[in-house]
Amino acid sequence: MDKKTVEDIDVKGKRVLVRVDFNVPLARGEVADDTRIRAALPTIRYLLNQGAAVILISHLGRPKGEVREDLRMDPVARRLSELLGQEVVKVDDSTGPEVKAAAARLNSGQVLLLENLRFHKEERENDPAFAAELAALAKIYVNDAFGAAHRAHASVSGVPAYLPAVGGFLMEKELNFLGAALERPEHPFVAILGGAKISDKIGVVENLLSKVDALLIGGGMANTFLKAQGYEVGESLVEEESLPLAREIVAKAGKRLVLPNDVVVADAFQAQARAKTVSVDEVPPGWRILDIGPQTVRLFGERLALAKTVVWNGPMGVFEFPRFAQGTVAIAQKLAQIEALTIIGGGDTAAAVRQTGLADKMSHISTGGGACLEFLKGKTLPGVAALEDK
Ligand code: ADP
Ligand code: MG
Repeated sequence: MDKKTVEDIDVKGKRVLVRVDFNVPLARGEVADDTRIRAALPTIRYLLNQGAAVILISHLGRPKGEVREDLRMDPVARRLSELLGQEVVKVDDSTGPEVKAAAARLNSGQVLLLENLRFHKEERENDPAFAAELAALAKIYVNDAFGAAHRAHASVSGVPAYLPAVGGFLMEKELNFLGAALERPEHPFVAILGGAKISDKIGVVENLLSKVDALLIGGGMANTFLKAQGYEVGESLVEEESLPLAREIVAKAGKRLVLPNDVVVADAFQAQARAKTVSVDEVPPGWRILDIGPQTVRLFGERLALAKTVVWNGPMGVFEFPRFAQGTVAIAQKLAQIEALTIIGGGDTAAAVRQTGLADKMSHISTGGGACLEFLKGKTLPGVAALEDK
């Protein structure tokens, strides 16, 4: 990474404001999945060991500028305290006199967690006064929230205007893995794209096509491409408005673009729907494509067998229904077998890989969904741009 990190700056005895991504799922008032909290621990522990006083800031959910009791950070503070094995002081706002006082009281080696930033609409508006108030709490700013780095919000791109700004270890790791794949991939470089919405990912397709040796498209995304090639796809999810673009991409990509040749179709969008495997030119009227078929798994597998770099974003089917998860599971298994740099991006894709129990067989599973997509589009992330260069 060409940006400074916590290791390039002296934090001893200083208050350090750390933007983390603690936007975790909650259930019954507790943290349901603490992956993102764990991912921030190396940076937090390092700063504490170096003698810093650590002030953590994050958003949680979408409270739209209002206080929402169910989106307070208290469950996060409890879980973080357990994981760190030390007290985490929690305050009920992110600005104001109480917060200032709590920050001033904080000693080296102590941790303070502020309230959900998005209780203030100024966070999303990137309000300079709000950013300045956050910045005034500390002497140094660290961004370890890769998952929020694509947002030009106050805590992401506003605060760095007022403080020396560096990246944390998670930020560094994410950028190093994604950067290695996109900027200097070992070839063959194969990308796999799937998921529901093609319009979200069209920029990714365009950017990746200039870099990859093969682009394998499955999931709901493939339907629009199949329809663009003249196949009847029945009731499948299709984005009509993306058809012209899909046609253009098919023409431009040539042999590098690999689409399914068989699919699993269902007579309803339901877990218990009737299912059958058909060739792509045999989708019955009234049925819908919910997974890639076994021939397609083999076809994709041949390309993956030789790959040295693989980026995967988007499940191959409706993996939430076990009957239509086979394509996604088979691709995860293939990635687990090959000797390649394997990078997984996207919230649902990461969840699918974890479900298969193969997560630790991948080189890297990104903690960012939207941020990862923006990176794959070739965009500069505002939260990264705001950090100091090495
Ligand atoms: P990620 O979060 O990894 O970026 P997306 O959000 O783009 O992935 O897509 C995930 C969703 O795509 C899943 O909920 C899955 O059910 C859906 N999906 C995959 N294939 C199909 C399909 N053939 N038809 C409808 N939905 C699909
Ligand atoms: Mg998703």
